[in-house]
Amino acid sequence: MKPELSVPFSNSFSSLPKDFYVKMYPERMPDLRLIKFNSPLSDLLGLPSKDLQQKDGVDFLGGKKILSNQEPLAQVYAGHQFGNFVPQLGDGRALLLGEVIGTDGVRRDIQLKGSGKTPFSRMGDGRSGLGPVLREYIVSEAMFNFGIPTTRALAALFTGETIIRETQVPGAILARVAKSHIRIGTFEYFSRKGQTNKVKELADYVILRHYPDIKNDSDKYHTLLEKVVRNQALLIAKWMGVGFIHGVMNTDNMTLSGETIDFGPCAFMDHFEIDKVYSSIDLQGRYRFSNQPHIAIWNLSRLAETLLPLIDENQKTAIKKAEKILELFLPLFTEFWINVMGKKIGIKKPKASDKALIESLLKNMQIGRSDFTLTFRNLTNLLKKDQEQNWCALFSDPKHPELTNWIKDWKNRLKLNDKNKITINKQMNHHNPYIIPRNHIIELCISQGLQGDLTQFHRLTKALEFPFKEQAHFYDLIKPPNDNEIVHQTFCGT
Ligand code: AMP
Ligand code: MG
Repeated sequence: MKPELSVPFSNSFSSLPKDFYVKMYPERMPDLRLIKFNSPLSDLLGLPSKDLQQKDGVDFLGGKKILSNQEPLAQVYAGHQFGNFVPQLGDGRALLLGEVIGTDGVRRDIQLKGSGKTPFSRMGDGRSGLGPVLREYIVSEAMFNFGIPTTRALAALFTGETIIRETQVPGAILARVAKSHIRIGTFEYFSRKGQTNKVKELADYVILRHYPDIKNDSDKYHTLLEKVVRNQALLIAKWMGVGFIHGVMNTDNMTLSGETIDFGPCAFMDHFEIDKVYSSIDLQGRYRFSNQPHIAIWNLSRLAETLLPLIDENQKTAIKKAEKILELFLPLFTEFWINVMGKKIGIKKPKASDKALIESLLKNMQIGRSDFTLTFRNLTNLLKKDQEQNWCALFSDPKHPELTNWIKDWKNRLKLNDKNKITINKQMNHHNPYIIPRNHIIELCISQGLQGDLTQFHRLTKALEFPFKEQAHFYDLIKPPNDNEIVHQTFCGT
């Protein structure tokens, strides 16, 4: 007889009080079929990768088969959406299957997205269409391969259902992996109800799970805020280093672990535009590219408010302490950003004084509408004989005097680096992706996927496994869009 499928769950969130979640099973989908399975991630999680691709495994990944050591649950949270507080959101189309401890010793959640209704579904159907599932698979794995903290994709599946969006589309499930799914909104949920004891339980849980080195600190809640501030500052600096616009930085979409979460209306810029907005619902540009660090501070301030009673009994003292930490964000972000951007232009150890050089390049890019990814990736052309024009051709006015000045300043700065050109070239290629998931290519993957053809999706995810490596056979995926291919708007889409 075939041995039973076995997955080594080791749950901890389910030991928290009952008002943190609702224990329930996913809906049983009619006909689960794998679209893509992420074997390397599965191996890292210590899962039986081979078995998971067999019938029982696929049913497990789609929530149809529940193992005896599982206790699936829907998590509750609240959140500020576009600045407005919503007292209860929660896993409306998601369900936590459980936690596993990977071969690297890290505890991670396995969560299904699109597995059916829960008590938090509100008016929604609890389902996901194929499009958002493909998009999240592509983008979250790309982020990981860029070296940016992120939730990941373990598997994408068809559910066998047809669901209704603007038209009828195939239903799909994403099995998502995260260090945890605890959001600023999870803290807000309990804080707004005045349940300080629950906020404390949650904070203690987060400290043990994500920041165990501070668990014995006398000032640990204060330090927790500082850790989250630091991680978010780093995260956003990294996003901006690849031209990423999250698009929906609501407090329920910001994690305590510092991982990127929620890939709804996100987009990578083609040509550089500092205030670029893609999301169709972000009418005021609240979540525009340049505003991301400021929104992070706004969100972290909401987190700080929930922690005040834990930081100090005296509210005034608590506020003062929290403010001091929030004030760290901008200098930290700036330091991280200079480091990220400086490395992109070949500076070995970027310094505060390099900010002007970086900003001046961005200004040229904005005026010259040059492609963000190619401008950085091809910058090494300037180090090669007779290739200067190739790089300058990325700008609308290749002979603009400001551009010529910048090249001069940049070359002078590199002289201080004290390194040979080959080493600089190598370093730059390591910090500037050759390939990103361009919006028009993602749209192509989705539109072809909806027609039943997943070839482009598989090609793109394959190409993005090594985003820094030049892979000439994927040339069509790296090219900026032609005018008629440009994606101007993205949609939340569920
Ligand atoms: P998001 O836009 O992904 O940040 O989701 C915001 C809230 O809407 C969360 O509570 C989701 O669970 C919920 N939600 C989004 N789409 C659906 C859906 N199709 N069915 C039920 N709930 C949904
Ligand atoms: Mg969300």
